[in-house]
Amino acid sequence: MLVDVHTHLDLLEKEKDLDKVLKNSEKVKVIITNGTGPESNRRVLEISKKYEKVKPALGLYPDKAISLTDEEIEDEIRFIKSKKPVAIGEVGLDNYRIENLERQKKVLIKFIKLSKELDVPIIIHSRKAEEETLNILEKNDAKKVIMHCFSGNKELTERAVSLGYYFTIPCTITRNKTFRKLSKRIPLNRLLTETDAPYLSSRDEANEPAFIEDSIKKIAELKQLNEEELEKIIFMNYQNIFLK
Ligand SMILES: [Zn+2]
Repeated sequence: MLVDVHTHLDLLEKEKDLDKVLKNSEKVKVIITNGTGPESNRRVLEISKKYEKVKPALGLYPDKAISLTDEEIEDEIRFIKSKKPVAIGEVGLDNYRIENLERQKKVLIKFIKLSKELDVPIIIHSRKAEEETLNILEKNDAKKVIMHCFSGNKELTERAVSLGYYFTIPCTITRNKTFRKLSKRIPLNRLLTETDAPYLSSRDEANEPAFIEDSIKKIAELKQLNEEELEKIIFMNYQNIFLK
């Protein structure tokens, strides 16, 4: 009973056949595919109509705060609202390769408001802007927060935990010390799994939801639980944040 709360099937379909990807993912009960821009959001909706267990999260990746006008952003927010997605995502701040953090912050605040209005989780990107992101989320009283691929230090992680936030662990936990540390630091009841497919693969090919099982193996080892037990806990966490 696995769950992939953050993936990009609209990007993965450029590299792998989605029918086959879905066939491989028999053990994955829910796949939440995240939009990154206007075109991506529309494709996400089409894909989630086609496959029963695929659910849409809609959002604007931080680069869209720069490339879209205010009016285009407002239009997209109205569109997203009308489609009633299961979550807002992928949204957030990126100080790694995207400029104008101040403008990104303004757009993020709009999405925090929208997620509260729709009463759905918000899936957050915070690359090289972990502290600023937490500041904005806290100040705007964000609810149902999922920190995707969080790379903040121990102190910031503890702050996010105390704010009640959840964390998604990517498949690269099999290769990357940062995510091993993260999964040790966060309590079991805040743990979720993601692929971020086609990125962050545990294998030498484009990532796909079926590879969540690689993460489960590694997290189970770190948390000293058996895999089945861990799968149940993560699925319960998914239900707690998405279905309540
Ligand atoms: Zn992503």
